[in-house]
Amino acid sequence: MEKIVSLCKRRGFIYQGSEIYGGLAGTFDYGPLGVLLKKNIENLWWKRFVLDREDMYGIDASILMNQEVWKASGHVGGFSDPLVEDLETKKRYRADHLLEANNIDPRGMTLIDMDDAIKSNDLKSSDGNKLGDVRQFNMMFQTYVGATTDESSISYLRPETAQGMFVNFKNVMDSFHPKLPFGMAQIGKAFRNEIGPRDFIFRVREREQMEIEYFVDPRNQENVTKIFDELFDDQMSFLKDDLGLSPEKIHKIEIDANDRAHYSARSVDTEFDFPFGQKELLGLAYRTDYDLQAHTHASGADLSYFDEETKERFIPHCIEPTFGLGRLILATLSDAYHEDMLGGEMRSVLKLDPKVAPYICAVSPLLKNRPELQEKAREVFSMLKKQFGRVVYDDNGNVGKRYRRQDEIGTPWCIVVDFDTLGVGDAINPEWKDQVTVRDRDTGEQERIAIDQLVEYFNKKI
Ligand code: ATP
Repeated sequence: MEKIVSLCKRRGFIYQGSEIYGGLAGTFDYGPLGVLLKKNIENLWWKRFVLDREDMYGIDASILMNQEVWKASGHVGGFSDPLVEDLETKKRYRADHLLEANNIDPRGMTLIDMDDAIKSNDLKSSDGNKLGDVRQFNMMFQTYVGATTDESSISYLRPETAQGMFVNFKNVMDSFHPKLPFGMAQIGKAFRNEIGPRDFIFRVREREQMEIEYFVDPRNQENVTKIFDELFDDQMSFLKDDLGLSPEKIHKIEIDANDRAHYSARSVDTEFDFPFGQKELLGLAYRTDYDLQAHTHASGADLSYFDEETKERFIPHCIEPTFGLGRLILATLSDAYHEDMLGGEMRSVLKLDPKVAPYICAVSPLLKNRPELQEKAREVFSMLKKQFGRVVYDDNGNVGKRYRRQDEIGTPWCIVVDFDTLGVGDAINPEWKDQVTVRDRDTGEQERIAIDQLVEYFNKKI
């Protein structure tokens, strides 16, 4: 992990939030390469789950919502984690994490069970001090909307994107009259005042989610199960085919009834082998009609669906596939990070799938100080940049150093324009005129490709 964190900072992927002021725990800023990687992942997700389908409606709801939304959803009363405090330093810990760290499985435990387990095992804080009682801690960030700061102006930074979709269910129904089953999809920020943010971007206080609320007809439970399984398969295809994650690091976990969120009738988590252990990457939950019922009662709006064929009216059920974007980025980076020997030298390399790599290719002149090479290389660069966008010009240092740098940021191919390309100079190969060298990141192998074939060459590769 240390190597990945250091690479991310050094090469401009991810920085600590507010770093020059000593940071702000649980926040991170994406640098130029991190933004490219993040956008690629977002775009692949949006393409697979929204653009390529006819049954998905994209939305982009506000982060600030009427406080009634969070009362109805249960977040004001119940969105909390079990917290325990070091009685000396007042540092706070998540009780379930503390138990896990002491090899006690907290799954299925109530608050009282956790309290008993901590006390009977005489567990201490990481500073070796006594701990207080386990209690609930609400994780929503509260704020006030407008000039007054009274009860009525309370709002929250949304703790999940899901509710933005439930409260727009009626709007989408009224505008588009979709037939069941159909889904609403959204990518956006969500906030949680995590007690213990940790493991780099794995557990943060401000994060991005990519989420779908997929509405189904509850009268046919066999079909609901079928759709649930299909959505799970889609999640797997996204991880394996779009992001290129190693299948053996991906684990399907059926969640026990005791451990499911109160609104869920079935939950399947997907866990991933991160460098710090096997942890949750994605979720899939059958939320039934919990949310639409709750908002129907709280708002008085009619959130039902009318079946034209059977003339029946009912509240649809909902299946929710949810993806944490930061966790996907961390999984992608940690899976891609390798150290290997190439040409007798040790190197670190990000073996990213070309679909997610910040750049598809880097273009450079063999020598920096030769205007004729620069000119031709710029010409090749402009042509590819116009076509693919994700192309970088790199003429810093010698070619060997450029290869190392591009390997470290995961650029799959490096193109070099040399004297053979121009067809001038001593010892040139006349057959190589108007061709460039294309070097493969993973094998280090090089081939000559004609400049006018490059676009087709990369189109085929990606
Ligand atoms: P956890 O049990 O790890 O706290 P959760 O099951 O409560 O997570 P969900 O509410 O299902 O998480 O959130 C949806 C997705 O968002 C998760 O699958 C995960 O990928 C991601 N996620 C949740 N909490 C965080 C966080 N604090 N930082 C980064 N990503 C998160």
